[in-house]
Order: sequence, then structure tokens, then C-alpha cells
Amino acid sequence: MLRIPVAKSDELFAAIASQQTLYLPADRKDGQAEYRKWEEGVKLSSRLNTVRSAKDFFFPQTENLAEFRMEGKKIEVIDIRKESEDFVIFGVRACDARSFTILDKVYLVDPVDTFYQTRREHGTVVTMACTRPAETCFCQTFGIDPTEPEGDVSCWSDGSYYYFRANTDKGQKFLDSLSSLLEDGDTAALEETKAKTKEILSKLPLAKVSTENFGGDKLNEYFRSEKWGELSESCLGCGTCTFVCPTCQCYDIRDFDTGHGIQRFRCWDSCMYSDFTKMAHGNPRLTQLERFRQRFMHKLVYFPANNNGEFGCVGCGRCLSKCPISMNIVKVMKALEEK
Ligand code: SF4
Ligand code: SF4
Repeated sequence: MLRIPVAKSDELFAAIASQQTLYLPADRKDGQAEYRKWEEGVKLSSRLNTVRSAKDFFFPQTENLAEFRMEGKKIEVIDIRKESEDFVIFGVRACDARSFTILDKVYLVDPVDTFYQTRREHGTVVTMACTRPAETCFCQTFGIDPTEPEGDVSCWSDGSYYYFRANTDKGQKFLDSLSSLLEDGDTAALEETKAKTKEILSKLPLAKVSTENFGGDKLNEYFRSEKWGELSESCLGCGTCTFVCPTCQCYDIRDFDTGHGIQRFRCWDSCMYSDFTKMAHGNPRLTQLERFRQRFMHKLVYFPANNNGEFGCVGCGRCLSKCPISMNIVKVMKALEEK
């Protein structure tokens, strides 16, 4: 397998960055990790996951769509699209890599979201296998193997080397462009690392969380469940769970008067907010219970109903660690399952 010593990572990142913009998870001063543009001195974080997921690269939190300039009755539409630069995201975890497959099912079906599509075409995803999964991880529940991450290129580390395997033509082209730095090497130490990770995975507290009792046919069983009242009672409607979630995909479109014209932009929205889906006639979900139920029913029932059984969660654990009232999808699943 192609590999490079970890000690040469600066050389590797410099070579990638000389061809395309490179983003990777880096440590912040507060000890958490976030994706940053690589430049000399930026080090790859050893933390498991970034605070915000990698979905920002394809579906940014805010994005300008168009501008309109008006002169009397004449309206000029200005194309301001800028999303056509090639870039590499390095170090994406298996859960986040799977989230792209879920987002593809929303944005690449008719009518295709061309902003998302262009970014997907220009982005190369290099994943990083996990070696120290956290207590909040449950990607296995959704059939994800964090020791075999997807992406254009899969990457593993045994502490001494980074190992690479191309999974797509784009990934192969990427590795070909680095051929002068990569060498062929045996993977015995890597196999040992994977075996150790699998042992940790089997002992994780959420290793047995199952989707067995969820799916597209559970609408009637769960929609009217009395559990929603108790589960949603303390929800603050802050939207944190939706903003850190790699698979949440809702947005709002607004026009902003710049004083010289109109700027049309979109930004992430949250089904937990009181004005979400507000329409001319009013809001169809008037209570926090209804909004809370929508988020979990979407991931566990509606999404699989419309996507051949695929769930709208990848078990990244972000909502487990970030919700200020310690509510999360696992608690919801367990509560709904209790008869
Ligand atoms: S993070 Fe917690 S409190 Fe905030 S909206 Fe989500 S479930 Fe409610
Ligand atoms: S619902 Fe929670 S665990 Fe599932 S993908 Fe979203 S943030 Fe991660």
C-alpha cells in the first residue's frame, strides 16, 4: 500500500497545497478542533472530530446566491458564483464521509442544487480512519466501519506512517500527483492498529444501539407517541444539534438590501426554530414538541422512507456532546423503543 512517514507530513501537506487549497482539522486554543486552510505551521489535529462537521465545504453556513441591481425599472441579475476552485479536505472521519452520501441524496436529485454539485465536483475527500473512537460514537449503528472510511482516498495511520488507498478516479489522480513522495510498503503494523480499534469499538457504551425498531414503516407507531411530550419538555430550541449535525440540510433564502441593490443569500435553518417552515398562512408546527418530533422523525422514519431505508444520522455523536440539556438522538431512540 502507498505510504509516507508521519514525520514527513509537512512535506506532504505542502505538496498538496501547492496544487489545490488544502483544508484539514487543526487544534484551536480552546482544545477543540476545526477545519482550517493549511499553511506552514498548521498541524493536523489528533482529536477525533471537529466541532463543526465537514459539510460546510459543500453546504456552507451562509452563501450568496445572486445579486440584483436596479436602475429605474431595469433589473440586472449579477452572477456572483465563486465555488469553482479545486480543493482537498484531508482527515475526514468515516461518519462525516458517509454524511456526504446522505446530502447527495437531497441535493443531487432533481432539481439538482448546482451550488452543492459544483463544490462536490471540485472537492477531493481524503478520509482518516479512527483509532480512538469516543464514548459518544455510534456510527456502527448505521453500518459505518470507522476503520474503513469511504471518500475519494482512504487514509490510515499506525502512528509511524500514513497509508493511502484511492477509491475513485479523482482519488487516483490525487495520489498520482503525489507519487514522488509516496512509497510502497507493507501494512502489518496497520492491520494491528485496525484490530485494536475494532476491539475498542466492540466495547463502546453505544455499541449495541440498533436501528431495528426504526425505519420508513414506523410513522403511525411513533408520530403519536406520548413520549414526545416528556422528551421535548426541556428543549431550548437553540438549534445547536442541527448546526453541529453533518446530515442536517435545511436552509432559508433571504434578500438583503445593501443600499446599492439586493443580495440574495441562503443560510442554514433549523427545524428546532419557532419560525421554521413559517408560510403566508402561518406556521404548521406551533409547539416545540412538534418541532422536536420533526427533527427525530425525519432522521429515523421519513428519510429512510424516501431513501431505500437509509437513515438520516451517521452516529457522529456531536449532538450527544453539544446539547445544553443533554438531549440527543440515542435518548430519543431508547425512549421510543420502550413500550
Ligand atoms: S441542542 Fe438540545 S436544547 Fe438545543 S434544540 Fe437541540 S435538543 Fe433542543
Ligand atoms: S443526529 Fe447527532 S449523532 Fe446523528 S449525525 Fe446528527 S449530530 Fe451526529
